Amino acid sequence: MWYFFIMKSILRNHKGMRAALTGVVLLLPVLLLSFSSNVDTYYQEETLSVQIMDVEITPEVFAEETNMILETPEPPLATISTLSGAYNPEQTTQMEEESANKSSEASPEEPSGASDDTPPVLPEPSKVAYLTFDDGPSRAVTPGILDVLQQEGILATFFVLPHPPRNVDDIYLRILEDGHEIANHSYSHNYSIMYRGEIEDFTEDVMQASEYILDKLDYTMTSFRFPGGPMGRPKSVIEQRREVLAELGYRDFAWDIDSGDSNPNTEDKSAEAIVSRVLENTRDREHLIILFHDSSSRETTLEALPEIIQGLRELGYRFDIIRNHP
Ligand SMILES: [Zn+2]
Repeated sequence: MWYFFIMKSILRNHKGMRAALTGVVLLLPVLLLSFSSNVDTYYQEETLSVQIMDVEITPEVFAEETNMILETPEPPLATISTLSGAYNPEQTTQMEEESANKSSEASPEEPSGASDDTPPVLPEPSKVAYLTFDDGPSRAVTPGILDVLQQEGILATFFVLPHPPRNVDDIYLRILEDGHEIANHSYSHNYSIMYRGEIEDFTEDVMQASEYILDKLDYTMTSFRFPGGPMGRPKSVIEQRREVLAELGYRDFAWDIDSGDSNPNTEDKSAEAIVSRVLENTRDREHLIILFHDSSSRETTLEALPEIIQGLRELGYRFDIIRNHP
C-alpha cells in the first residue's frame, strides 16, 4: 500500500522522471519475486536438514541406514553416528554384527579365521600313531579297549589270534563295525611252526587264519605281524616268509615301541609304567607303531590307554589303522 502511495505522489510532483521510474516500477515485482523464491528454497533445505537430525532412531530406521552405509565402499561409522543424532554404542554393536554377517554372506568360501569370532582351523597333524593290539580278542579286555577308542573317536589295528577259539564272534564284529582293522597274527602263534618248520607249514598257518576271518566276517586281511616279531630271527628265514606273505597279499609290520605289557623281560607292567614307556620313546617319529596286547589279563593295558592317547595327541599325533601306513 505504502509503495503505491509514494509512487503516485512522485509521479504527480515530478512529471519529468515519469519515464525512468516506469521501468523501475515494472522491474521491482520481478526482483521481489526472485528474492522471495530464494528464501523459500533456503527454508526448505533448513527444514529438511532439521528433519534428518530429529528423526527417531527405531531399529528399522537404523537397519535402513546401516544397509545404506554398508553399500558404500568403506563403511563410515562416524557418518552414521552424525546422521543418527546421538551416538549409541548398542546400535553400533548391532551394526558391526550386521556388517560381519554381511561380509561372511558375501564371501562364504573365505577360509575361517578371517573373522575374529571364529577360531582358526588347525591343519591335521602330519605325525601318525598306529595303536596295535595283538593276541586277542578277549572278552576280558577287548570290549573295554573298543570303548576307549570309540570315546576318543580314533581307529586302531587288532592282530588277532583265531586259535584257540574263545567264543568272541560278537567282538570280532564290533571291531569291524567300529571301523578298525583286523590283521593276521598267524593261526597258531607257535614259533616252531612259524620259524623252525618248513616254509609250507608257515604258509598253511597264515592261510588258516585268513580263511577263518574270511569265512566268519567276509573280511580280507592285508596286514601281518610275525608272532614275537621278526627281530632276532635268522634273516634268511624272515626273507623267505616275507616272499610268501607278499604272494598272499600281505605287508608285515613290526613295531617302533613295545609298551611292555606282555614282554617277559619287562618287570613293571603297571599302567603307569606302560604310559611312561610309550610316551618317553616316541622320538618324534613321523610314523609310530606301538605294540599292545588285548589278550585276557592285560587289564593294565586298558587302564593305560586313555592317558597314552591324550599324551600322543599332545605330542602332535593323530591315529590311523596300519593298512594306511605308507
Ligand atoms: Zn603275539
